[in-house]
Amino acid sequence: MIAEIIAAGSEMLTPYRQDTNSLFLTGVLNDLGVQVAFKTIVGDSIEHLTGAARIALSRADIVIFSGGLGPTEDDLTREAASAALNLPLHRSDALLESLAKRFAARNIPMPPNNSKQADVLQGATVLDNKYGSAAGQYLDTTIFHSDQPSVRRIVILLPGPPKELKPLFTEQVVPILATSLPPRFLAKRMLRMALIPESTVDNRTAPIYKQYPDVETTILAHTGEIQLHFLSAKPSLAEAQARVDELTGKIEAEMEDAIYSSHGESLEDIVLLNLGIRHLTLSAAESCTGGLLSERLTAIAGSSRYFLGGAVVYSDALKTTFAGVPPETIATYGPVSAETARALAEGIRTRTGSSLGISITGIAGPTPGTGADAHKPIGLVYIALASATSTEVKEINITGDRERVRFWASQHALELIRRSIL
Ligand code: ATP
Repeated sequence: MIAEIIAAGSEMLTPYRQDTNSLFLTGVLNDLGVQVAFKTIVGDSIEHLTGAARIALSRADIVIFSGGLGPTEDDLTREAASAALNLPLHRSDALLESLAKRFAARNIPMPPNNSKQADVLQGATVLDNKYGSAAGQYLDTTIFHSDQPSVRRIVILLPGPPKELKPLFTEQVVPILATSLPPRFLAKRMLRMALIPESTVDNRTAPIYKQYPDVETTILAHTGEIQLHFLSAKPSLAEAQARVDELTGKIEAEMEDAIYSSHGESLEDIVLLNLGIRHLTLSAAESCTGGLLSERLTAIAGSSRYFLGGAVVYSDALKTTFAGVPPETIATYGPVSAETARALAEGIRTRTGSSLGISITGIAGPTPGTGADAHKPIGLVYIALASATSTEVKEINITGDRERVRFWASQHALELIRRSIL
């Protein structure tokens, strides 16, 4: 079964308001095994809303309207659904009464406009809105065509305010859908890879996942990482899980150690987990990232067992004072150099007594480097990882603004640690 969500409201066609209801609805529908195939945002025009409703009814089994159930002239969802379905609206006495009670409880006369909130599509079930005046509606109907086979359609009208829509959908619509749809069980998996281009991931994995058309595969690019999401809906959970596991197994074999997480854990989680498994401790000397790496690691509860701490050594002087970098190394090679990165990593390791020392030094921009670094490009970053026996230094060129250079530098550092202790 596929669904379409129609978000009604001209405000969502401005730069100021976003349709977030459809994100919530999509998550809940996916859990019921329903795929959202279309979303439409329509302004408050009866013509446009009816047109969108007709299109949705022609292509989706479930059509959900959000918003436009208020009392004002521009609240037109009931009328548009009625026109598109070719079904009349009936004024419900029970709804009229409950609306009247709502106003009476607040000691205000009910404005005549509000009466239209009691209009119900013929055959629809009224869904009580505990938090607002706009009641929802649920209709399970058959649309007959003279020239085509008849089709079953579920039409749901929901109030626009998220605080009203969410409880109404969860408490009243989900139980009905759960019993009226064929049983579907969902299995999900997420694989994560750092510092690898999306096109590389797709070139290598597409020949595999295309053999599994029944598993929905989505590739998402985030800053410094690619996520592969897999979703399978089957009549039994075991069947759905088996399909997802079989596909992810083949993708893991293809991408090997490029995959840092097979169950959605973050790169920081994985680094700390691997430090723990190997009984290693880590310290950090950060220049251009200003503590971002340490912040990412310490955001994980329990990180203190493996991450000892370190220093933000932004100035040349502190690189010497806190991490023991010889001043002549900085003077000769510049603070952004392989030599300084090496000395920083080794220095912070010895001073803190950790098993591993990581360092990051680079030019985050937009202002260029100075002194010995004056000729070096913005985005040039050196990362070093020192252990008791050796030090590995990496030179990286990161494109983009200051924020991006700093985040990617921290991502490269985490990935260097992960790969070296694998
Ligand atoms: P009511 O009359 O109770 O406000 P309604 O069904 O007429 O209900 P709308 O007038 O369409 O709802 O929307 C009311 C408010 O709800 C909007 O101003 C907006 O803040 C929020 N809203 C509406 N639709 C959405 C949406 N799709 N996503 C997020 N917020 C929404």
